[in-house]
Parts: sequence; structure tokens; C-alpha cells
Amino acid sequence: MLHLPPSVSFIERGWLSSNNIVLQDEAKAVLIDSGYWTHAEQTHALVAHHLVGKPLQTLINTHLHSDHCGGNALLQNAYPGLELLVPPGHAAYVENWDPKALSFTPTGQHCPKFRLTGVIQPGAKFIVNGAEWQCHAAPGHDPNALIIFNAQDGILISADALWENGFGAVFPEIEGFEAFDEVEATLQMIEELKPRCVLPGHGGIFEDVPAALTRARSRLAQFRAAPDKHASHLAKVLLKFKLLELQRVSYTEFYAWSEDLSYLRLAHKEYAGAVTYKNWIRDLCLGLEKSGACAMDGDFICNAG
Ligand SMILES: [Zn+2]
Repeated sequence: MLHLPPSVSFIERGWLSSNNIVLQDEAKAVLIDSGYWTHAEQTHALVAHHLVGKPLQTLINTHLHSDHCGGNALLQNAYPGLELLVPPGHAAYVENWDPKALSFTPTGQHCPKFRLTGVIQPGAKFIVNGAEWQCHAAPGHDPNALIIFNAQDGILISADALWENGFGAVFPEIEGFEAFDEVEATLQMIEELKPRCVLPGHGGIFEDVPAALTRARSRLAQFRAAPDKHASHLAKVLLKFKLLELQRVSYTEFYAWSEDLSYLRLAHKEYAGAVTYKNWIRDLCLGLEKSGACAMDGDFICNAG
């Protein structure tokens, strides 16, 4: 296990909830990302376990996907006075709660309503235990995402901009916004920061950043060459996410859930219109089963892997 400074706690979660990172010193305790709402109690318990003798003071969301901000509401109740900061761009949709604009409705996911207390801008800095952490805009996976870098210790909180094996699906592309260039520019920025180790939004900590960047770039090249493959990848991500949440559900119910998802509808219309929506969803599920990510069991579909 990699040695992190005592002021940094990395809490690795499964894929339904994003990882959580606690930064703390004698004066303050800051949490980065709060996981998915169905795990909010667990997130609270894990975070409380890592806090050393003081309440949580600040919660920062790297971006407002439901698996990164689903625990916000519960933590806000648990820690009265909690400062809750989100990136600009989507902040207005939190203030005038809009689950559609916040992508919860189009992805078929849920996030309990929370209140923000402020916005954290790219370039913002804060000090924990004498080390400066700076936010950087990291568009691509999400147009308003931030990553947070501690140059002194070479530690990067990369959220979904870079994982050990890849990066988060590029949602804006499905909405008709070209964002592969932004993914590339964000990877370039990460390379220039020269992190010694990366604390990603999902999966484990890693130190071989050049190898991760090479894998991410090769994946990006594949998506650029075949945007339809990216669209089906993104669709599978959404289906798998729901299976992680539900674990086992009748296929009829699962398909009915998928029918209302505007992200899936867009992906189908743009990239797979030659087959019916029903057959497309079925094919995607069979693809997930083939890769071991789910199992079709009679009339039921179950999470696997
Ligand atoms: Zn995300």
C-alpha cells in the first residue's frame, strides 16, 4: 500500500459509489465526493471513522454525477453548518433543484436534494496541513468537472478524468457536444502536472501515471475512431450502474426503466437507429453478460462480476 501523508485518507469504494477522500489537519476536515445515495449511511460511517476528533467542515464535489454527490444531503444533516462547494456551471441547477439538468433523470439515477453553500472555481486553492491543494478545470467526462492537485506531495485527486484503466464515459458527446478534444486536453494537463500518485474517483490508487495516461489515450483513440462503440460503452455503463444498484430485477421491469432514459434514447437514435430500441437494449445486456458483468436468469437480469 502506497504511503500517503497522514493528512490524506483515501477511502476506496465499489463502483456504485465514488471513492471518498478526507483531507484534514488540526484546523479543518475536508471531504472530496460523497458517493451514491443508497450508500450514504455507509459513507457517513466511513468518513466519521477517519475524522480525528472534529466534525466535517467542508464537502467538495469534483462534479455533480449522482455517484459523487449522492451522500451530500445525508452529510449535510449529519454535520450542521457543513460548507458544501460544487464546481460552477451546474451550481444554478442545484439552487433551483433541477434533476433533469443535473443528469439524474436522463441517466435513470437518483440524488436526494441538497443545498450548496458556495461554488469552488477552477484555480481555487486551500491549505491542509501546510500543503496547498489547487483545483483545475478537467472537462471531458463532465463539462464542469474539477481535479485537485497537491504539488508539494505530488498527489492528484483525478475524479473520473483518469483512472488506472481509462476514464469516465464522455457524456457530452451523447448530447451532441464534441468533447473528445477536452478529454485529450485534460489528459495532457494531468501529464504536465506530473503527479507522483493518483487518487481516482473509482478503483485503487496508482503511481504509474505514464502507463495510465497511455492506456487512457489509447482508449480515447478507439472512441474517436468508432463513436458508435463509445455510445454503446456509455449505454452499458448506465445499464451496469443500475444493476449494481438493483442487483436483481425482472427483465421486463429493467427494460421499462430503460425506456425513459433520454441519454439512452439519444445514444440509440444517433448511433444504433438501425435496430429497434428494444433489441438494442437486449443486445447491450447480452454484451454485458458475455463480459461477465451481468447474468440473464430466466425472466430476471442480475448483477455479476
Ligand atoms: Zn462522473
